[in-house]
Parts: sequence; C-alpha cells; structure tokens
Amino acid sequence: MNTQAANKRIRLIMHLRQRGITDTGVLSAMERVPREAFVPAHLTDQAWEDMALPIGLGQTISQPLVVATMSQALELSDRDKVLEIGTGCGYQTAILAYLSRRVYTIERHKALLEEAEERLHSLKVRNFTALAADGMMGWPVINGIHQAPFDKIIVTAAARDKPPSALYNQLKVGGVMVIPVGEPGEQMLRRYKKETEDSTVIRDIMPVRFVPLLPHVTDSANDMKAVV
Ligand code: SAH
Repeated sequence: MNTQAANKRIRLIMHLRQRGITDTGVLSAMERVPREAFVPAHLTDQAWEDMALPIGLGQTISQPLVVATMSQALELSDRDKVLEIGTGCGYQTAILAYLSRRVYTIERHKALLEEAEERLHSLKVRNFTALAADGMMGWPVINGIHQAPFDKIIVTAAARDKPPSALYNQLKVGGVMVIPVGEPGEQMLRRYKKETEDSTVIRDIMPVRFVPLLPHVTDSANDMKAVV
C-alpha cells in the first residue's frame, strides 16, 4: 500500500472514532478490509470516503459509518454465529467475518450473491456460507441441517414496521438483532435484544436510508431497478 492510500484509511478510522465508534475490533476490521475491492474500478478513489457508493444493478455499498455502527451495536465476539440478510457486494459480510466465528449470509439477487462470493474468496475470507433466498424467512433447514438459532442477526435492507417474525424467531435468547425499520424517508436503525423468550429491549440507534426488504429470489436485473 502506498503512503497516500494508507493516509486515506487512517483518516477514515479517525473520522469513525470521532463519530462514536469506540469498539477497537470494529475499528481494526474497518481498517483492514479493503473497501476498494468492493466498489467499481472508476470509484476506487472514493472507497475510503465516508459515503455510500453505487455498485451497479441499482444497488449501493453502505456508508462506512453505518457499517461500523451496525457492527458495533451487535457487540460481536469471535464465538458468535451471525446471520446477515442482504449480502449485496459482501463488504459488511467481510467485516462480520473478521469479528465473528462464522457468517451465514442471504441475498435475494443471485447475480449479486455470486459476485460477492467470488470477491470474498479472492480476499481469502473463508468463514462464511452464502445462500440465494428470501432472508425474511430466516435460514432454511438444508439437508436436514439446522443452523438457527443465531447469536446475532443483522439486516441491511429495511423492514416496514418490525423485524420479520420468522427471522426474529431464529435469534437466540440473549442475542441481538440490528435492522433498519420504517417507510422510505423515515427509517430508523434499531437494535432488538431478546432478553427472554417473550421480552425484548428495543433501542433506536440512528436515522438511515436503506432499500426495502423484498420477497422472493430473483435473477433479473430489471427487478433490481425496481428496488431502488
Ligand atoms: N450489506 C451491503 C449492502 C446491502 S444493500 C453492504 O455491505 O454494502 C441491501 C441488499 O439487500 C440488496 O442487495 C438487496 O438485493 C438485498 N435484499 C432485499 N430484500 C432481501 C431479502 N428479502 N432477502 C435477502 N436479501 C434481500
């Protein structure tokens, strides 16, 4: 890495600290995962700016502050089994993989998922399993194997008014889910802590802008345009 590239990384990390990211694990994951590998070639110059960027197919890579804030709110440990809904380009997946035992990630758009998997493999990220499916249904039983319940669940597309119940049911007691909730233009990032089987502590984190959660698997680029 040249000096200029290293300086850009350090500037972003200092900015994240000023904006309330204090978890040293999260800061080091944000410093080490090469965000430029997740953005189109003509945008690599802006990869270390604190901005969401377009990644094609009408989708965006989330803003670094939002990725860091969501990761911090999950209070990850290297023993955690994490479920992620909305793989997108795989950037958040790479950060989660750095901070947890294993990440199970679901994306509804097959082409995006395949690209993300290739990118993560080329970056030598190995502790993840990816699936094309509707994440609102949670992780399915595959060949008789149950992966649920999960220690942590993160959703990077917005729910209308509350977490999908099939998904929330896959959270362990004591586990944490982070998810944007609300209509476009008034979404709030929320943290749900499952204290017991029937009590939840909910905290608002910050206003955010995410694409909505949509049903069904797709491999159509037109469908993606409808998502934005
Ligand atoms: N996590 C990404 C950003 C994801 S953008 C990052 O690190 O930058 C949101 C993604 O959620 C899109 O790719 C969209 O296709 C996906 N998505 C929307 N609804 C979904 C659903 N029901 N199941 C799985 N993925 C979904």
